[in-house]
Amino acid sequence: MHTGGRVMKDFMRTLRLAEVNSGASTREWIAKPGGGELAVFTPSDGSRIGTVLQAGPADYDKVAAEALAAFREWRLVPAPQRGLIVREFANAFREYKEPLGRLVSYEMGKIYTEGLGEVQEMIDVADFAVGLSRTIGGPTLPSERPGHRLMEQWHPLGPIGIVTAFNFPVAVWAWNAMLAAVCGDTCIWKPSSKTPLTAIAVQHICNDVMKAHKLPSIFNLVVGRGAAVGEQMIMDRRLPLISATGSVTMGRHIGEVVARRLGRSLLELGGNNAVIVDASADLDMAFNGVLFGAVGTAGQRCTSTRRLFLHESIADGFLARLVAAYKRVPISDPLDAKTLMGPLIDEGAVNDMLKAIAQAKAQGGEVLVGGERVARPGSYVQPTIVRGPRDMAIVREETFAPILYAFTFTDIDEVIAQHNSVDQGLSSSIFSRDFLNIERFLGPAGSDCGIANVNAGTSGAEIGGAFGGEKETGGGRESGSDSWKLYMRRQTNTINASRAMPLAQGVQFDLE
Ligand code: NAD
Repeated sequence: MHTGGRVMKDFMRTLRLAEVNSGASTREWIAKPGGGELAVFTPSDGSRIGTVLQAGPADYDKVAAEALAAFREWRLVPAPQRGLIVREFANAFREYKEPLGRLVSYEMGKIYTEGLGEVQEMIDVADFAVGLSRTIGGPTLPSERPGHRLMEQWHPLGPIGIVTAFNFPVAVWAWNAMLAAVCGDTCIWKPSSKTPLTAIAVQHICNDVMKAHKLPSIFNLVVGRGAAVGEQMIMDRRLPLISATGSVTMGRHIGEVVARRLGRSLLELGGNNAVIVDASADLDMAFNGVLFGAVGTAGQRCTSTRRLFLHESIADGFLARLVAAYKRVPISDPLDAKTLMGPLIDEGAVNDMLKAIAQAKAQGGEVLVGGERVARPGSYVQPTIVRGPRDMAIVREETFAPILYAFTFTDIDEVIAQHNSVDQGLSSSIFSRDFLNIERFLGPAGSDCGIANVNAGTSGAEIGGAFGGEKETGGGRESGSDSWKLYMRRQTNTINASRAMPLAQGVQFDLE
């Protein structure tokens, strides 16, 4: 059993957390930021584990000015050298993987192995960024004019704002920050107020690297309320890009505010992810994929499986197996090695879940398993399956909790249409060995999500692909592939190496 006091003492020593932490930092911590106190709790037993002094308006301004000054220096460092520096951050994350992963688990409530996995994701994306630093570049294109060259360059964009959600308290920052850094940008991070300690620990690690290599303030931090410091940040014209991860409500607001100043926003918002299991599927694989997707992280991933479409011929047996498994899921302290499902983030999340279940019942849904909170200190709930009519309105919403809505189908085209009928479009998957069904699902009239998997669940993406979703999920892409382009500005150059001045499209403009 982990006692809060001992766990916190460990973190305080290795990750340099204090009884009262500053929530504002460039390379140096701002000693007494003026945004008031924020109490931090662990969902594992609901106890208070720390206090953060939040950034106030003046602190934000100081941090933003520093990030802009640092950008002016950092953009001049050649990209491969920026990559070498990012490698130093990757090594520092490696060094702190265990205590940081443990703190992620303790502060957010995901199980220990997922906490470690999250730090591994930081390391992976940093390694990816190092490689990228030697490849970012634009094409040279054929010019229609003799002796001319047409080419594209990618330049650093500026200091960028990163807003993150509680459920991936460190990995999502790294997806943005590591790419931004090799692109020549500096960052200001506003983490979720539910998970500020992990952010402060990461900033300590970054400050060490920045000081050791005499770097400008590439990575900066402001902890504060969305409505206060967040609002100041998204309106700040010094930040050409705001990358925001969180709910659709938050993203709609940030998208509007940033668009009003004609800034760029990268939005990674809520999902409502579904799995289709057809009659040909390997049911063992499908079972494992659905169980992790729906129960893992207590249903608190943007990619968690929330809807399950089962072919009529296999539905009853599959659901019976799932129900039996749900009853055996060890729900306990996230730091306990035997636990597979930890708590929800807070009491608000528990209430949202119970409310959604009540609505589902009122709309004709039948609770097959779960549906209650677990009687122990902390925000623990039972993973829940609701079988219901397809027209239950609650199914259209993302409830950030382990509720799985199960339905049956007979026709592949009809189930794909049903799959696509929600407002969100993040992750999707089909379990099938039927080539025609798989191709239907992946084709232009198939899944409308940013992520569409075959014989792999909706949850748990690798960093190498571009990550993000369509429709109300926001359209952003982060992490791998060519997502780096969002962190740079593209410049098209025409270079005339001839002695004539021909105009494009053959236009003549000669003075007699
Ligand atoms: P949330 O929307 O409550 O908060 C997210 C962040 O936005 C927090 O840091 C919050 O302080 C900030 N914020 C809120 N209002 C703001 C404002 N006016 N200005 C600036 N910042 C503001 O989300 P949450 O509860 O922390 O996270 C859960 C949600 O995030 C779910 O909907 C989940 O699907 C989504 N999510 C999406 C992805 C993705 O990649 N698509 C990844 C993780 C989480």
